[in-house]
Amino acid sequence: VQIITTIKEMQQRISLLKQEGKSIGFVPTMGFLHEGHLTLIKHAREKSDIVVMSIFVNPLQFGPNEDFDQYPRDIERDERLAGSAGVDVLFYPNVDEMYKNEMTFHVTVKDKVDVLCGSKRPGHFDGVATVLIKLFNIVTPSYAFFGMKDAQQVAVVTSLVEQFNFPIEIIRIPTVREEDGLAKSSRNVYLTEDERKEAVAIYRSLQLAKELISNGERNPAMIQERMSDYIHSNTKAEIDYVEIYTFPDLKPLSSLTGLVLIAVAVRFTKVRLIDNMTIEI
Ligand code: AMP
Repeated sequence: VQIITTIKEMQQRISLLKQEGKSIGFVPTMGFLHEGHLTLIKHAREKSDIVVMSIFVNPLQFGPNEDFDQYPRDIERDERLAGSAGVDVLFYPNVDEMYKNEMTFHVTVKDKVDVLCGSKRPGHFDGVATVLIKLFNIVTPSYAFFGMKDAQQVAVVTSLVEQFNFPIEIIRIPTVREEDGLAKSSRNVYLTEDERKEAVAIYRSLQLAKELISNGERNPAMIQERMSDYIHSNTKAEIDYVEIYTFPDLKPLSSLTGLVLIAVAVRFTKVRLIDNMTIEI
């Protein structure tokens, strides 16, 4: 795998690849790779001639009291994993390279951010949109791969490419899980041993929702309550939200129908975890 750290060099590399007629598949990440990321790479590998992965912990998408400094990082391990998973080019700029000139524009996401992580993490999706506009312009991929683990991000990015006319197909990849069902996340390393055991309750609460729905329950408030009760009874975590919306519009609904997103966020002592399930009703 070739590591590139400057925007200029990345653009030169891309322009050569384009001259050779190569299609580019792009996997943006914050690194500390796990099987979720590797699955995105696998799909990118199948669909594109060249796979570009970016690793950039984007300060703009972290709030002042969030874990930007503590976010786990290990570029050597990532380089190895990315290489053996089939990444051709690893774009690894530092913060100064990405935001060298202080930004005098602010991207504000206006739709789909008054709910879920958007409402709990003010400005988060503005930061995500900003960095993705930059990365999409630098990498100019034909395809970009995003995990459904971050379903609201998928919804926002879908609007972003539509509204700003990026000629990029956004490809959604299902959530990759640990054996007990916990969604893989770079942040899982910050769970204590006990919390790691409890954390399966997040996944189980989603399974409970599925079961309630298959037994005919259609009232979202009912399902949210049962899920919250389950998480409360089985963990010491604090619930950030348990919410249900249409997907990808993220509109509330009084009776469940169509494609529905059921999403959870909880806080353990050192880490906030999210998970979700989409279900066609
Ligand atoms: P991150 O490095 O956490 O910003 O994630 C980079 C990409 O990997 C995003 O598109 C995530 O949605 C995706 N991703 C993270 N965890 C998982 C997972 N467990 N399964 C599938 N995709 C994931």
